[in-house]
Amino acid sequence: MSWRTAHDSGDGAWPATTQRHESAGGHPTTPAIAPSPMNPILKLLPATWRAAFTELARLGRVTRGQVLLIGVLVVFTVVFESVGVAMILPLLDFVQSDGDVPALVEKSRLWRMLAGGFDSLSMPINLVTLSLLIVVLILLRQVTQYVATLTFGSLRLRVEKNLRDRLFAAALSAQASVVQNIGAGSFVELVYGQCARAASLVEMFAKLWGVFVIFAAYGAIMFANAPVPSLLAIVCIAGALASVNQYVRITRHLSEDLVAAQKQFTRRLSERYRAWRLIKLADSAAREQAVSAEQTKTLYTLALGIVRAGAKIPLVLTPLITFLVLATLYVSVEHLSITVSVLTLFVVVILRLMPVVLGFARIRQGIEERAANLRRVATAEAEVSQAPEPDSGTRVFRGLKRDITFEDVHFSYPDAGRSALAHLSVTILARRMTAIVGPSGAGKSTLVDLLPRLITPDSGAIRFDGIPAEAFTLSSLRRAIAYMPQEPVIFDDTVIENVRYLMPEATPEQVVEVCERAHADEFIREMPDGYDTRLGEGGIRLSAGQRQRIALARALLSRANILLLDEPTGALDYESEQKVKEALDEIVARGRMTVIIIAHRLSTVRDADHLIVLREGRLVQAGAPADLSRDDSYYRAMLDLGSERPAERPVPARSGR
Ligand code: ATP
Repeated sequence: MSWRTAHDSGDGAWPATTQRHESAGGHPTTPAIAPSPMNPILKLLPATWRAAFTELARLGRVTRGQVLLIGVLVVFTVVFESVGVAMILPLLDFVQSDGDVPALVEKSRLWRMLAGGFDSLSMPINLVTLSLLIVVLILLRQVTQYVATLTFGSLRLRVEKNLRDRLFAAALSAQASVVQNIGAGSFVELVYGQCARAASLVEMFAKLWGVFVIFAAYGAIMFANAPVPSLLAIVCIAGALASVNQYVRITRHLSEDLVAAQKQFTRRLSERYRAWRLIKLADSAAREQAVSAEQTKTLYTLALGIVRAGAKIPLVLTPLITFLVLATLYVSVEHLSITVSVLTLFVVVILRLMPVVLGFARIRQGIEERAANLRRVATAEAEVSQAPEPDSGTRVFRGLKRDITFEDVHFSYPDAGRSALAHLSVTILARRMTAIVGPSGAGKSTLVDLLPRLITPDSGAIRFDGIPAEAFTLSSLRRAIAYMPQEPVIFDDTVIENVRYLMPEATPEQVVEVCERAHADEFIREMPDGYDTRLGEGGIRLSAGQRQRIALARALLSRANILLLDEPTGALDYESEQKVKEALDEIVARGRMTVIIIAHRLSTVRDADHLIVLREGRLVQAGAPADLSRDDSYYRAMLDLGSERPAERPVPARSGR
């Protein structure tokens, strides 16, 4: 089976949904950040970063207000720091001039401003007050930084939450084929790991903005004091940054490969982990371990490649910038005759900018890495939200009264060689038990999946009491249909919660009543905590037959009046089988439910009021078991085989019908 879509290509492209502003459920999202004209600063970003920013805002529901708040907090942090650093210059001037403030005021505009400020506060200018001012500015910076860190952190966590909520909601309302295509393992990894990494782009972009503001602030200070050396220094820094472009490119490619490898690894891991029993019994642990080790080696190699690229950035950048800046200083001192205080400021600023430049290089790498995670999230979100289940019906289905009719129904799975169902025309009567039989691959499960509209016919019609299935709302139709698969779904929850999953408001008494009818009550009462016993993941603490009886009780407790069962007695011993049959008989006898059973056992078939025999997607026969022709049919083979099997004893006659 393959539902691989174009989005799966892993070519690093963003899905074509960047401009949509609707969530999967059709709910309008909080206004996302449009790339323009709202924020011209975004235009300074490379196109891929801009796309990442826009997609992060859209999927993570980041509002303009939040972006603005972070932007302002970053600016305040930087301004307080820059002013604090710039204050070193007047401090040095003050020391150098032996505290001759009038002379300093005469000489410099900065000093005039400073003296005015101190005057308005009625404070004297001395070494202590100047130092105090620096301390106050640094303190203000730290407080702002504290608020900023909290704000970034909470926004990142909110984005992470929004990404997860959005993906989960969209996946659950997507078509069955799309849900199945993603796979449980990779979905968990996607929602848990990829969303967290993608959300950390919030901090990356905030840091990027911080770098931009720091460069602007320090650039302004340097330019005001020494324009030519500053220009030289900026050219040097830009050139040095360009020299590490290749490592950023390498990171981008490795990150794409890493995300694809993570997807494959988690998909296989979850599949194999669930198959632990087979692996143990097949003694294939060593083989499985070898394949897994290959995959973890790939993950390790790719991640190491990113670490290596990241480590090379400062290795190249630091000596290069140091050399270029020293050369600039040399030129400035030798040929541009700058003063000692400007030289000092220059050195202070450069020392402060060095880690910022290195930080910028790391941010570039970080954005490339996380953009790959976000792309994976965005691609999956596009995949699931572009394939919502068709739900245009407006009528409320209030239960089956007469019949379900299939009229020339065709259905093919994508990429399948032949139709799973073709020319199917058949009627299923209400309040009767209909058994669907046929060899493996005949189309029995497909027929059953069509009823709650998990899949929809390619052509033909399915009518409930003469009304097309698609005229009903999906939720009302599905509420009226309870489904019990051959391998029942049991959650890691208590017995009572498992049983009332379809009807959470059911009382404990109602739960006990259906469990008695499904012959589950007796074994539940023997459990350590009775109805409050947790059943473990997938109902690991139960036998297959017990799982089936819990699932049957769940189906009986629902508001459904159509019960779909996939061989409900398949995993039961003879005694339990009889009990479940009695429960089913009673349901049908009460005339409340229409029971449709995929039957593999002759005893189930014999019990049915109506049989539908399928083979290779086509209807072979339909009617009451006694009326069906025994010529050339799967049914006949079933009867012949059944009559030779002592286990298939005749079932006691049912009462009430
Ligand atoms: P079984 O008794 O073995 O469960 P079935 O009668 O229920 O078989 P279906 O599961 O309905 O048969 O399958 C009918 C046909 O459709 C088969 O040929 C099967 O290979 C194909 N098929 C079923 N599910 C898919 C799928 N998800 N993708 C592609 N083909 C599918």
